[in-house]
Amino acid sequence: MDISFIINELGEDRENYYNAIAPPIIQSSNFAFNSVEEMRTRFKDEYSGFLYSRGLNPTVDILRKKLAALDGAEDCLVFNSGASAIFSSIVPFVSSGDHIVSVKNPYTWAQKCFNLFLTRYQVTTSYVDARITEEVFDACKENTKIIYLESPNSWDFAIQDLRAIAQFAKERGIMTICDNSFATPIYQRPIELGIDISIQSATKYIGGHSDVVAGVLTGKKSILKQIFDLEYLLAGNGIQPFNAWLLLRGLRSLPARLERISRTTVQVIDFLKKHPKVEKVLFPLDDDFDQFKLAKSQMSGACGLFSIIVKAENGDSIEKFCESLKTFLIAVSWGGHESLVIPRLAGIDLKDFDSNNQEHRMIRMYVGLEDADYLINDLRKNLEIIH
Ligand SMILES: *Cc1c(COP(=O)(O)O)cnc(C)c1O
Repeated sequence: MDISFIINELGEDRENYYNAIAPPIIQSSNFAFNSVEEMRTRFKDEYSGFLYSRGLNPTVDILRKKLAALDGAEDCLVFNSGASAIFSSIVPFVSSGDHIVSVKNPYTWAQKCFNLFLTRYQVTTSYVDARITEEVFDACKENTKIIYLESPNSWDFAIQDLRAIAQFAKERGIMTICDNSFATPIYQRPIELGIDISIQSATKYIGGHSDVVAGVLTGKKSILKQIFDLEYLLAGNGIQPFNAWLLLRGLRSLPARLERISRTTVQVIDFLKKHPKVEKVLFPLDDDFDQFKLAKSQMSGACGLFSIIVKAENGDSIEKFCESLKTFLIAVSWGGHESLVIPRLAGIDLKDFDSNNQEHRMIRMYVGLEDADYLINDLRKNLEIIH
């Protein structure tokens, strides 16, 4: 299906709302029936239509159709955060005694789900260096129910061979889940590569304006219905109509924003790679990236997020550099209009800074919608601070 059609037309039923171009926000908690028999039918299968907005809602449904189609998936559920999408992709598919194989260092709250929550219910997780596909295969046991992936990782951009892992898992009846927040379906479609559930934090590129927190799951209808029928309705963590509307608005300009950000990012990276204070740039579609070939084989773009390793003896100077930048804000997240930085050392005490540890010298950067020169001039001026 054409991406322009999906974004501009699919799921919209304008004749039903005065031919308005922008869809209405159906801010209603409940929906009335014409007969008790109709109500009875809906009670039997809430996934078949509107009953109560903790379940389905018409504004959210427009968004679901578009996001499913963008991923080449049968169906989609949208949540009140990426973290709740992650939680809801895992919990329905494990019971006490089961085992999960996960990539090393997935998103923080996925790790907390495995380490702090699921361990309470005797579900164990093995973390593997999933850049090496055999490590994933070797870690799978009789009781492995899920292989959890994040490709690329949002700090070091480690990539997994999604096709090979999906095929291996299918043969063994293991569910594969992949966090695709980095690439979005515009640049990578895990479902088409054979993955069962694709996750996105819609807070990032889909929202695109740093004003909404949301998460997306796509996959087969049977899988999403299973999630909906219990965990989605039980936790009540579905997206609210107004936030769904903000995501619809974000979607309209998604390809245009990504295109622009991708172009600017290449310019910023070209500048950084030549700079004497920069030891290394980590970006999946950079020729020098370790897994460049694999990245090219499953991603068609990489957009605005990357990390740099700077040449610093002094952690304090990395902090000063970040604080001196005028055009990059110090903040978590990414995908909005504004450029951002996070030094890895924000996660440790400054007294523990060890210049021999590459990770301590890592700065994650996000390029937003600003002009390349505007960002590069600021970087040029302030990189000198690092020593
Ligand atoms: C931000 C993020 C999430 C969590 O999404 P929220 O919308 O913040 O809950 C999950 N995965 C990755 C890779 C992310 O960057």
